[in-house]
Amino acid sequence: MQRRGGTREMSKRSALVLFSGGQDSGTCLAWALQQFDLVETVGFDYGQRHAVEMDVRPAFRKELAKRFPGWADKLGPDHVLDASVIKQLGTTAMTDDVAIAFEQDGLPNTFVPGRNLLFFTLAGALAYRRDIGNLVGGMCETDYSGYPDCRDDTLKSQQVTLSLGLAQRMVVHTPLMWIDKAGTFALAKNLGGNALVDLVVEHTHSCYLGDRSKRHDWGYGCGDCPACELRATGWSSYRSSG
Ligand code: ZN
Repeated sequence: MQRRGGTREMSKRSALVLFSGGQDSGTCLAWALQQFDLVETVGFDYGQRHAVEMDVRPAFRKELAKRFPGWADKLGPDHVLDASVIKQLGTTAMTDDVAIAFEQDGLPNTFVPGRNLLFFTLAGALAYRRDIGNLVGGMCETDYSGYPDCRDDTLKSQQVTLSLGLAQRMVVHTPLMWIDKAGTFALAKNLGGNALVDLVVEHTHSCYLGDRSKRHDWGYGCGDCPACELRATGWSSYRSSG
């Protein structure tokens, strides 16, 4: 991949979204398309327990471009990077077929140590090559499991590290950091009306078990895992508030 002959001005107007195919990163993609002139996406293949999230990514991008022509013009290429080294580092409920539970340190065993640190490092390197100066991720402190690498301070620290280590200003945006799942649905509504909410419900995937056989009013999923519970609770709170 050649570094394009862009300028620092160009890099300020473009963004790379860490897009996993879930509700959060799907909403972040729409947010970025409203904020920036050029938006590219990156996904990480790390031997996820189920490939469903990776599978829904192209469909979401395609539907987004179809239903929002103004955004289609800004939507650049998708990149998928191999991050399978994560699986070599040990078993987690995110990558292996083990029951989801809480560990003694209070973290769920879906925690993949170092995952977001690695993802942002890879995304930063890709953004540098693409002459992109903004990274966007759907991390959130509000109602999630307390993953330490989703914390605002972790990501602000990583913004500083990337900017220093790449000798190029790299701004990390986390538009969902202080809102809950209901707020994330409301943000989608603000960005793209009910058309975007419908798209998020139908074409993103959050269920840890990769279940797309059951369709609920909030989307597909097993209905019982922590990710489904969060999404279902957020949906009902969003619906009742508005
Ligand atoms: Zn589930």
